[in-house]
Amino acid sequence: MVDVPNPLTTVAAHRSRISELVGVMPPVTLPVAGCLGLALAEDLVAAVALPPFDNSAMDGYAVRAADVATVPVTLPVTDDIPAGRASSTPLGPGTAQRIMTGAPVPVGADAVVQVEWTDGGTSSVRVDRGVPAGANVRRTADDVAVGTTVLAAGTALGPAQLGLAAALGFGSLPVRRRPRVLVLSTGSELVGPGEALGPGQIYESNGVMLAAAVREAGGEAELVRFVPDDVAAFRAAVEPRLAGVDLLLTSGGVSAGAYEVVKDALTGRGVEFTRVAMQPGGPQGAGRYRGVAVATLPGNPVSAQVSFEVFIRPALRAALGFPVVERPTAVAALDSPLTSPAGRTQFRRGRYDPASGRVVTPVGGPGSHLLSALALSDCLIEVPPDVTELAAGAEVLVRFLQ
Ligand code: AMP
Ligand code: MG
Repeated sequence: MVDVPNPLTTVAAHRSRISELVGVMPPVTLPVAGCLGLALAEDLVAAVALPPFDNSAMDGYAVRAADVATVPVTLPVTDDIPAGRASSTPLGPGTAQRIMTGAPVPVGADAVVQVEWTDGGTSSVRVDRGVPAGANVRRTADDVAVGTTVLAAGTALGPAQLGLAAALGFGSLPVRRRPRVLVLSTGSELVGPGEALGPGQIYESNGVMLAAAVREAGGEAELVRFVPDDVAAFRAAVEPRLAGVDLLLTSGGVSAGAYEVVKDALTGRGVEFTRVAMQPGGPQGAGRYRGVAVATLPGNPVSAQVSFEVFIRPALRAALGFPVVERPTAVAALDSPLTSPAGRTQFRRGRYDPASGRVVTPVGGPGSHLLSALALSDCLIEVPPDVTELAAGAEVLVRFLQ
């Protein structure tokens, strides 16, 4: 085999190149419900307190604790306070007001006796058990005081964070707009899933996989129907769709053979093609075509998806304003030996078992066509460039895929 003349690009260098090309998206304000999975672009400061007023934690009776110190005692019920209403009368000494969970505690009351400890009366109530002052009252600002920074810029907005924002009265939130990614697969052998497969043809799978990966990372994906290995067809598919796109993401057509359509269409037009010191996913390209950031991934499905994980996902996370762009990692013991090419970072597919002492099992071999092995994996096993052999039991870094 003829060796590659140029030195290989490092994984780290190619990753920073892609992130630099994509950059950071501008801030926008989106309705809270549309912010799931995005990062907060500014600190979120509470303009109201939580709870905003002293309210009852129970269905029961607002009282003065001193009036129920000796039980049983019967008190006249002078008002009825459902949630959403304030009492019309302050609580006088020796009286009770019926109150529901979440309703404002009336002025003059210092405790709530739960209904279960009473006879449940409506004009008068017999209280069978006393409560100390403060019992069953949720105090103003118990949870959040006005002016508190409740969530810092960069916080990932999951269900609980969106719930908190809504509870504080935010109808919309400052986030960064989702990066728009145009996903295009290439290959004259490709046939759409659902169509009839002819001799020498295969079903196209990178498109749906990469578009899903973009969405899972928080981006917006436009999936273009794949094109054959034909420069004119490639350009005809790409050019009318470039407006407003933050990243053109292609797969296939970048290795060393003939008919490398992506290479042929973009070489000398702002995109540079290199070999990255990794396996799988060596042939890569990056640059700008007509002002739009471009990343070209190799076509083998496992290479394409591993390249996405290593280069594209971190760039999209950074574009969204996440301070941490990496997936979670762990150190695990290999349950079987591995070999890895010298001078390349190898990313093997694996299954991680935290139960049996953090053990990871390689799934399938190193072949970059083994898509089912990828689908059965939950992590990538990262083998550094200077390591060529690992015995069973050796410690490795695993990068979780979900
Ligand atoms: P290429 O990078 O274009 O040389 O493709 C490498 C290998 O990946 C070949 O076996 C292709 O048939 C396969 N391949 C390329 N693109 C796709 C795709 N979109 N879906 C499934 N397999 C693909
Ligand atoms: Mg191809």
